[in-house]
Amino acid sequence: MYADVIVDIATSDLDRIFEYFLPDSTVKEGFRVLVPFGNKFSEGIVVGLKDKPVYPVEKIKSVLRKLEDFPVLSKECLDLANYVSERFSCSKAAALRLFLPAEMRKGRIKEKKERYFSLDKEDLETEIKKSAVKQIEAYKYLKENGEEKAAILNEKFGTSALNSLLKKGIIKESFKSVFRKPYGEMPSEKKEINLTGEQENAIKSVIETEKSVTLIHGVTGSGKTEVYLRLIDTYLKKGKTAILLVPEISLTPQMLKALRERFKDECAILHSGLSAGERFDEWLRLKKGQAKIAVGARSAIFAPIENIGIIIIDEQHDGSYVSESVPRYKTEDIAFKRAEYYGAKVVLGSATPSVETYYHAISGEYNLVKMNNRVNKKELPKISIVDMRREVRKGNNSPFSALLKTELAETLKNGNQAIIFLNQRGFSKNVICSECGYVPKCENCDVSLTYHMEDHALKCHYCDAKYKMIETCPECGSKFLRYGSFGTQRVVYELNKLFPDAKIGRMDKDTTQNKEGHYKIISAFAKKEYDILVGTQMIAKGHDFPSVTLVGVLDADSSLFFSDYKSGEKTFELITQVAGRSGRANETGKVVVQSFQPDNNVLNYAVKYDYQGFYKNEISLRKATGFPPFADIIRIMVSGEDDAITRETLKNVYNDVSIIYKTYQKSFVFFGCMKSPIKKIQKKFRYQILMRTAKREVYSILCKIAAKYDTGKVSVYAEENPNNLV
Ligand code: ADP
Ligand code: ZN
Ligand code: ZN
Repeated sequence: MYADVIVDIATSDLDRIFEYFLPDSTVKEGFRVLVPFGNKFSEGIVVGLKDKPVYPVEKIKSVLRKLEDFPVLSKECLDLANYVSERFSCSKAAALRLFLPAEMRKGRIKEKKERYFSLDKEDLETEIKKSAVKQIEAYKYLKENGEEKAAILNEKFGTSALNSLLKKGIIKESFKSVFRKPYGEMPSEKKEINLTGEQENAIKSVIETEKSVTLIHGVTGSGKTEVYLRLIDTYLKKGKTAILLVPEISLTPQMLKALRERFKDECAILHSGLSAGERFDEWLRLKKGQAKIAVGARSAIFAPIENIGIIIIDEQHDGSYVSESVPRYKTEDIAFKRAEYYGAKVVLGSATPSVETYYHAISGEYNLVKMNNRVNKKELPKISIVDMRREVRKGNNSPFSALLKTELAETLKNGNQAIIFLNQRGFSKNVICSECGYVPKCENCDVSLTYHMEDHALKCHYCDAKYKMIETCPECGSKFLRYGSFGTQRVVYELNKLFPDAKIGRMDKDTTQNKEGHYKIISAFAKKEYDILVGTQMIAKGHDFPSVTLVGVLDADSSLFFSDYKSGEKTFELITQVAGRSGRANETGKVVVQSFQPDNNVLNYAVKYDYQGFYKNEISLRKATGFPPFADIIRIMVSGEDDAITRETLKNVYNDVSIIYKTYQKSFVFFGCMKSPIKKIQKKFRYQILMRTAKREVYSILCKIAAKYDTGKVSVYAEENPNNLV
């Protein structure tokens, strides 16, 4: 027998199938094998078997051995890897890697096995010398207990006694797999929840619809999570498996606890907070069918399960579902493909579906279910917009409007909690010389530096470089430096001045360097150790804090200033999500949104929770401009440290793209070839070619062009509908 093998190597010019002789008939498609490659051995995956090779038989080398005694990839996953490599233009080896725990490659981690002893033959006690007391004791113990871990027996009776028994053939050894458990044992405390009518309707609709995809458009607090859990339960009872995807940020210990309580060991959790061993074992439990539900962020879509009944993507609109490194896959596309193979259902859930997704739902391609009410019948919090231009005119230079100050005081007086949101960490976005307008910039990146008060330093948020704070302007020598727009540190500082008795917490990238930090702040706030929590995007999503009755959004329109076609969508989403944190329990919440463009359409729809209005407005704009879902925006990014070489490459890429343009003229619009909005990041000069196309296949062609010019010196890649265009 001969095997087609994809060898696990990074070089894409060797990205093809290699044939090997296969002496071991137990190896089938999907097995990992060790093969001779060049003058070394490499790991590879068997993707096909055949009787006759294409390559001359005498030149064919032989597979050395299999690496596991089971196939690591099913037929479905092998096909899916092919699809990923075609659709998102990456090497086959890179596509296959998505399906395996990183630690499995190069044998860095293996199944953990424990050694057991048991009696080999009964009634052999007479063969043990009377004087060998320990051996007799061990014998008796095993006769009574059947089998026992070698470690325990060695501890009780001594290694030499057990070795003698083993040598004489009185006892035998065996090995059993053990799984490293990330969360230990969980007590089950089943809470009885009576579903609301809307929840029941949603569940019924997903199960009964003939369409494979359902969009659940449910307001924040409408109880979507309970719907997901019941659906998973339903498909498990039918003997099927399930995948539940959430943004990484929502994988909080509380959420994991809820899942483990409900599903115990049937649920495997794949996320970056686990140790390598734990991650591998969770993967293995799924692979071996011991766990039937895979829960995790984006990459859990590649979970090694078969017979899938349902795939749920919570917070469907979240940017983290698009991979921003190679392979640049879209999680939804993978979900649709897997669901198609198994005839499974896909559920997309969100309070603010992406415009593209809603378009597919409205046009009847997806089943659309609405959940318009919060579980506790509470109204959605009332959102007020404050015109910050007027505040400034009145001489208010603090980050807080008069209304927000009053509401904060009221909230604190009533013993409730508040959340203050803004999109900028650090103390101030930048530092400006009042005399000449000089702004300190990063040496590696074309961006201004952010002042951080705690270490009195200037930091670059793109490359993490740290600089000494300037005391005088290096251009004109002036001592009059002023701070630019507020960051989270400044807001905490100002709040402390306004409310000296209040306890104030901060959650942003600087206070959550490790996963623990994130969890500590969240749980401290939940335990009311803080009265006010100031934070960035991190606090916008998912969290359920019953005592929060006020949310302030300081810079609501910061994302509206980006010239990106998704900026309206992002702003609507942000306000809805942040507002969703307020008034989740007993009291109705309030939300104060501060804006310098209070008449903006998007803000006004968000304030009224008018998703339909927002959508109608947005979709007509997109139609008029030919933006997604009516066409795809593609960006080819060219970057490198040597500006001249990078420009040269850009020119070559542009010439190649121009040839494609001639073929697709009617459905192709060039927006141009230019410097990127941020001209330099991490010492690399950045250029881009932007275009729009209504033909899906164009993306693959452009990816191939990009790959052709992607070298060590210059990086070139193509992105389809990128999440941001910096
Ligand atoms: P969403 O994800 O739609 O924003 P959640 O799933 O977080 O909403 O639900 C909000 C809260 O309501 C949670 O605390 C949840 O435990 C609770 N909940 C959900 N369904 C019910 C129900 N049928 N009865 C009572 N409480 C419920
Ligand atoms: Zn100056
Ligand atoms: Zn920098």
